[in-house]
Amino acid sequence: RKIEISGKDQSAELEQLARAFNQMIDRLDRTFARQKQFVADASHELKTPLTVISSYANMLSRWGRDDVNVRDEAIEAISKESKRLQNLTKSMLMLAEAEQEDWLKLETFDLVQLADETADMLHATFQRMIRVHTPKTDVKLSGDKDKIRQLLVILLDNAIKYSKDPIDITISVTKGNVRLSVSDKGVGIPENDMPHLFERFFRVDGARSRTTGGVGLGLSIAKRIVDLHNGQIDVFSKPDQGTTISIVLPQKNRS
Ligand code: ADP
Repeated sequence: RKIEISGKDQSAELEQLARAFNQMIDRLDRTFARQKQFVADASHELKTPLTVISSYANMLSRWGRDDVNVRDEAIEAISKESKRLQNLTKSMLMLAEAEQEDWLKLETFDLVQLADETADMLHATFQRMIRVHTPKTDVKLSGDKDKIRQLLVILLDNAIKYSKDPIDITISVTKGNVRLSVSDKGVGIPENDMPHLFERFFRVDGARSRTTGGVGLGLSIAKRIVDLHNGQIDVFSKPDQGTTISIVLPQKNRS
């Protein structure tokens, strides 16, 4: 499939063109392979809760009328797995949206205010202590406000799921960059798992994530949002001590 140029046609321009073309084909190949993998993984993730729901529905229809224990167990399992499907499809849609190319809606906003609002919203829902440490002045950031809110929600949601102690958001500004970090003193992440954290559907511990409702897409979406803002995301973590996700974003962004 690749272009080969040989003999008397071989001019510098043609060679350059062929190289560019081949690179494009390689990129398309990689994108296509990634998409195929995503569809395979997503189907697998959707299949598990659907199988549970359909088995319990079957049980309900056979014995649910006579046996109250069967009925209660089935109803609980069906609600839990439906909730999981909801989380999964919500995250998949979020990722799909984040993958669209023309997707950044740039505006300039105060990151401190956004962090305060998001912390308040999650505190109201989960009753967890979220402390926000910021400079005295506001911190102007040009970015997609909704997506940066989404990013904060993902990181705080993880900290809430995997820790018990207070959670800290810290914002600072240095040399035209904004640093935003979310720290918790929770279960932490084993060193072996660190390289895989941004892979789609990756979970450190399937059983633990299953009970916390994690689907393994949060950090993939977070990374995509940071990449689109030309930023950098890093994870620092120690098992049983806690995790810090640190993000650096250029304060002024071009899409
Ligand atoms: P999930 O939806 O399962 O939370 P993520 O992509 O957000 O998926 O995270 C991937 C995995 O990284 C999680 O399954 C979890 O094990 C681990 N992880 C993420 N954030 C934290 C954290 N703050 N503390 C401990 N483990 C975390």
